[in-house]
Amino acid sequence: FTLAACSGGGAGSSTDSSASGDDGAMMEEGGTIGVAMPTQTSSRWIADGDAVKAGLEAEGFEVDLQYAADDIPTQSQQIDNMITNGVKGLIIAAIDGTALSSQLQAAADAGIPVISYDRLIRDSENVDFYVTFDNYNVGVQQATSLLVGLGLLNEDGSEGDAEGPFNVELFAGSLDDNNAHFFWQGAIDTLQPYIDEGTLVVPSGQTDIEQAATLRWQQETAQKRMEDLLTGNYVGTDEKVDGVLSPYDGLSRGIITALQNNGYSGTVADGFPVVTGQDAEIESVKLIVDDVQFATIFKDTRKLADQAVVAALAYLAGEEPEANDTETYDNGVKVVPSYLLESDIVYSGNVQELLIDSGYWTQEQVDKGV
Ligand code: BGC
Repeated sequence: FTLAACSGGGAGSSTDSSASGDDGAMMEEGGTIGVAMPTQTSSRWIADGDAVKAGLEAEGFEVDLQYAADDIPTQSQQIDNMITNGVKGLIIAAIDGTALSSQLQAAADAGIPVISYDRLIRDSENVDFYVTFDNYNVGVQQATSLLVGLGLLNEDGSEGDAEGPFNVELFAGSLDDNNAHFFWQGAIDTLQPYIDEGTLVVPSGQTDIEQAATLRWQQETAQKRMEDLLTGNYVGTDEKVDGVLSPYDGLSRGIITALQNNGYSGTVADGFPVVTGQDAEIESVKLIVDDVQFATIFKDTRKLADQAVVAALAYLAGEEPEANDTETYDNGVKVVPSYLLESDIVYSGNVQELLIDSGYWTQEQVDKGV
């Protein structure tokens, strides 16, 4: 389809569009797209917001980009305002995936297409499309990186030399974020055989997602829980933590701080516990290069932003965006057609190739960690 901004037809039809041109194709320049992002405390969402904004502006749109400081009422109000202001489309990364039903109803009533960005919006039929990564596989990759760090697997997937048993603790994300459940499931399915055979031991016994969850993905919450796990299960015993499954770099840094506060020091090569992550946040990439955090998962936010722009343009041209998955993401009311991207495991050895050569971070940023 043409990349010019169009309106009319399909979920993208907008009541206030003024047709222009003489061919009756209802082509129209510009208009505003509302982009609602959760928080600026994590560099990944800043990168997402910047990339979506740049992509839409390059197509002639104005962009109302809002961050909600991880506060649900703030995000609801931002989206209400966008709808009142007559945006032509909405791209939303929800804080609480279940909290936006009334906003989405208003959007549907106004003919505004809604694209769920990275996180699935649940419990509403008014979600037109979902752009994300293969979130189950992200969880598999997180667990895989833990196994590699412990020496149970090699980076090529073959069996490693280590035998264990190893003590690990498990962290999950925010339970109101649909992704947290996918990450956890992918990770647990991968780790369970090792737990069952006794190669991995969870000394705290906290192996349910409810026990492992971290509300709003807060770094301090993860740090506190790690400190409590250490105090309750390790301090004063001969047991030592060998690895921690962490589903997000911010949590990983909180976990690392807790470990350092409790006498763990040095690098992974020296025996510092293997801590996983997600998002290739710059602070964590530096820690990986320094061999303090073991790994992260790189989800190229530029590609995700591109897909969101492509989907928005399709709706505004009166077309359905192309989905590559129409089965996985049931939001409780309907299966939302989705476009899934692939992710990569980042270890210290491939930071150059995956993150620097691709232009995601510069060498200087990696050196400084900011
Ligand atoms: C995203 C992750 C991110 C997490 C915390 C999830 O919904 O998919 O990439 O680490 O939110 O921001």
